[in-house]
Amino acid sequence: MTERAAVQVPCVWHRDLLAELMQQATDQRLPHALVLSGPAGIGKLRLARAFLEALLCQQPQAGLACGRCQSCHLAAAGSHPDLALVMPEEKSKVIKIDQIRDLVSFFSKTAQYGGRRVALLSPAESMNRNAQNALLKTLEEPGAGAFLLLLCDQPSRLLPTVRSRCQQRQLGAPDAAVAQAWLAEQTGSVDSARALLAAAGGAPLKALALEQAEWFANRDRLLGQFLAVLEGRTPASIAAQTLLQHEPLPLLEALHGWLAQALRGQQHDDKLAPVMERLRQRAGDKRLLMLAAEVQRARQLLQSGANPNPALLMERLLLLLAGVDAMAGAF
Ligand SMILES: [Zn+2]
Repeated sequence: MTERAAVQVPCVWHRDLLAELMQQATDQRLPHALVLSGPAGIGKLRLARAFLEALLCQQPQAGLACGRCQSCHLAAAGSHPDLALVMPEEKSKVIKIDQIRDLVSFFSKTAQYGGRRVALLSPAESMNRNAQNALLKTLEEPGAGAFLLLLCDQPSRLLPTVRSRCQQRQLGAPDAAVAQAWLAEQTGSVDSARALLAAAGGAPLKALALEQAEWFANRDRLLGQFLAVLEGRTPASIAAQTLLQHEPLPLLEALHGWLAQALRGQQHDDKLAPVMERLRQRAGDKRLLMLAAEVQRARQLLQSGANPNPALLMERLLLLLAGVDAMAGAF
């Protein structure tokens, strides 16, 4: 008996959606191009890979790739000739136009295994304008058996001309109870699952990544830096340095999650409760709201590839909370 290939399975909360997509494919109702968008860390990539592998599989079972046929083995090995994965290359934040040209040429050929030709673009918004324009013709006339799956955290960054040529589906974070049960199973702790999900805005895979981040255990101390600046105990530049000993993006994402909860009057993380309560008392909700909006902006800047100065960015957030806007417009 041949060994079973390690085919991808979707997260438990995406099983029904995958079944639905596979049914569409069986009924030949699948569009040529589909945009799946939703927050980062909810398992879109797993869903996408499971879907594409099942589409290529010669004998899918219950809507999943069988893991035994030649297609499944090739897909798992990353060498299926009818499967193209287009992602930013190492260290790059963008999908380059050359990658899209290769993709256009991929779709100009016929399928080698007699079935579909499928491609995954992830995250699709990392294509710049030229790359997106280069894809338009393929989106319009992709050829027989072609299917393009575009994953997006921020669909607004796709050109309207791209969006209008694709069917679109918006995915949300999974139900909180389902996410918590899944995460507790992964981490072995129900209590930490709550706190992790709270920091990850309900996105379970992001929450799991946070568990591995060494700063998460010290999150009260890190949030405490904001309080220290607000109370005039620490200069913003020093607090910024302390915060920047860690990767800024996950930290800002977590901060945004905490602020959003605090503003809704919720608290899912006992470790943060005392610090957050004092922040609210000292700064007031209006300023916390402003901070949340600026944190969001800072996150987008860091993700955009614009290379902002992280120290300036962090310092500005700290000062903003303290009510000092001397650095407004600094980025
Ligand atoms: Zn198979």
